[in-house]
Amino acid sequence: MALRSVFDVGAITTEFEDAGISTRFISSIWKHLLQNPNSAAHDVPSLPSAAYPLLRSKFKTTTSALASVVESKDKVTTKLLIKLQNGSFVEAVIMRYDTRLGTYDGKPRSGGQRSTLCISSQVGCKMACKFCATGSMGFKSNLSSGEIVEQLVHASCFSHIRNVVFMGMGEPLNNYSAVIEAIRVMTGVPFQLSPKRITVSTVGIIHAINKLHDDLPNVNLAVSLHAPVQDIRCQIMPAARAFPLERLIDALRIYQMKSQQKIFIEYIMLDGVNDEEQHVHQLGKLLETLQVVVNLIPFNPIGSLSCFATSTDHNVKRFQKILRGVYNIRTTVRQQMGQDISGACGQLVVNLSEQRSVGGASLLTDIEDLSI
Ligand code: SF4
Repeated sequence: MALRSVFDVGAITTEFEDAGISTRFISSIWKHLLQNPNSAAHDVPSLPSAAYPLLRSKFKTTTSALASVVESKDKVTTKLLIKLQNGSFVEAVIMRYDTRLGTYDGKPRSGGQRSTLCISSQVGCKMACKFCATGSMGFKSNLSSGEIVEQLVHASCFSHIRNVVFMGMGEPLNNYSAVIEAIRVMTGVPFQLSPKRITVSTVGIIHAINKLHDDLPNVNLAVSLHAPVQDIRCQIMPAARAFPLERLIDALRIYQMKSQQKIFIEYIMLDGVNDEEQHVHQLGKLLETLQVVVNLIPFNPIGSLSCFATSTDHNVKRFQKILRGVYNIRTTVRQQMGQDISGACGQLVVNLSEQRSVGGASLLTDIEDLSI
């Protein structure tokens, strides 16, 4: 039987309980492994004697391994290609920011260096969004919660990770229980990420949104809306047929009432598809009664995979101006990072034939800053 990840909290908790070992030792094991990345779980000192044979026979420190690390020329983006135990590959992307650069609400920013990690939750994705390279792979498998946490463990060797966004490969809410379990680990000892610095991005799986706040209060929700009307949504995101826009907006309204948090709306700008003046007014009207931050994402061409083109600067700026000026909706334009390593949003797919990865998710201004 394949060994489980020691970061797979469900598995290790069950094994410890069955063996009569206190589960309070689990976080000490994780802490030791984070501080000593080259040691094995059974090398952790001061555990009950029964824990050692159990750790040796059933668990591995990490079940995944770094297959390659690619730095962008500007050194702000690092893409990690990670090989899973089943032989599949996923990617995680580290993005570094210096928050002292630029301004926030017209004032100089405080803070300093910080890193955001973009995490994958599935190998491939079944949602088949037409502008997305991952969607073209189809669905291969779900990641376990341990495999999700391990992306943070690997990334922590390169940078101090302050923020996590689930915007890598896969639809996180289609792998709901593993994602919830992984986030609970990330917000506990020893990782201790603030839930406010974790963002789950979804195409809008309504039944999962309905329970997300109860399961993970304070985590940020981002919705890949990408169109202001159902027809266009279905055209570019076939899975949206199962999630009518009206019902999705109702679900967001209820989510917001419960969470009292802003919701991030992601909107990819596709030339001639969803970027015309009528579309921005439809979007403004759709969102004006919600507390949202709209993030406009200039489309990253994905070669032969795509029949779409990037919106002109003029159209992107017009969208931002109208959403802000007419509808009073906070609207940002996503800064693209790491395009030279194909680490830009919507390009995430593992191309093994080239023995390099094509993809990753690039972001943003620091998304959590926008929720303040
Ligand atoms: S955009 Fe997200 S949900 Fe859509 S196919 Fe790509 S990974 Fe899946």
